Amino acid sequence: MKLRAIELRSVHLPLLSPFRTSHGTESAREALVLRVESDDGEGWGECVAGSDPLYCPEYLEEAWLTLKRYLAPALLGAPGLTATDVQPLLHEFKGHRMAKAALEMAVLDAELRAAGVSFAAYLGGVADVVTPGIALGIMSSVDELQDRVSESLEAGYRRVKLKICPGWDLVPVAAVRDRFGENLMLQVDANSAYQRADIDHLACLDPFCLLLIEQPLEDDDLIGHAQLARRITTPVCLDESIVSVHSAATAISLGACSIVNIKAGRVGGYLEARAVHDFCTSQGVGVWCGGMLETGLGRAANLALASLPGFTLPGDISATDRYFHEDITPPFRLVDGTIAVPTGPGLGVEVLRPVLDALTTRFEALAGAEH
Ligand code: MG
Repeated sequence: MKLRAIELRSVHLPLLSPFRTSHGTESAREALVLRVESDDGEGWGECVAGSDPLYCPEYLEEAWLTLKRYLAPALLGAPGLTATDVQPLLHEFKGHRMAKAALEMAVLDAELRAAGVSFAAYLGGVADVVTPGIALGIMSSVDELQDRVSESLEAGYRRVKLKICPGWDLVPVAAVRDRFGENLMLQVDANSAYQRADIDHLACLDPFCLLLIEQPLEDDDLIGHAQLARRITTPVCLDESIVSVHSAATAISLGACSIVNIKAGRVGGYLEARAVHDFCTSQGVGVWCGGMLETGLGRAANLALASLPGFTLPGDISATDRYFHEDITPPFRLVDGTIAVPTGPGLGVEVLRPVLDALTTRFEALAGAEH
């Protein structure tokens, strides 16, 4: 195909309740939504960068500029373009994996819609439904946390992830384990809030039989994670540290993790995410699909990714009503503790254009040189 135009939109989605992590509190999701127009039809993508460089160096303003100045011009008008060409064509531009992933996603969506193939079928998915987990932010009290866990279990979620940070770790974990019992699938995510000096403290989580501890130390501290993994019995999972199949291979060979959280945006796209899945699976390392407060577009793609056979742990792909008052696609619903993997062509979801237009706060159309 040949891309004729790439549209960028900022979309403002208020959250039902503020989400607090060790990085800060979000009360709305500002999403960067892409639409590509090709001679084969349209495709949609989403850049999962945050409003500020808190999760990783990328952030939305910068992603917009990078897409406009460097990435979009490298693809617009390129003849015979397919999704597998996107990363090689953008390779000379360092980093900016989330912006690149958004473009690849939109090109892949256009390609698959035209071919009548779903994301899941293209990626090699095998599951019809995905069992999602829920991620609960840092709360103001243990009572509030227990109420939220209770609501989540009543809603049908089978795995609970607690965000932790120094000062909010052993007590809330102990309280949840105590109240909800040893059968609750429970895990924690520190978003790199701890240091190597905290390793003995983190070992105090072991008695709570967690599924895993996610990204306790700094992104680039693979040796520290390996030291931690040797010291504790709780499996160590990496999120922010894994930015490609190469970094996954390095982390695994160092013994820095035994589980990997895969986020397509963080590794530069769904094709690299599949490669990370394939590598981890070949090494006997479990994977699960992380979430970045995606709109229904990213959620659809994540469901497709999570349908691959190596995704044996519940992912952070909650139902739409967990986060947003209103989404830009029809909502994803939890049914008997599962969410269906879309089967339609491409992402398998349609954008609700009036809603998208109403929530759009910024728009820019980039066209090829011949326009
Ligand atoms: Mg995480």
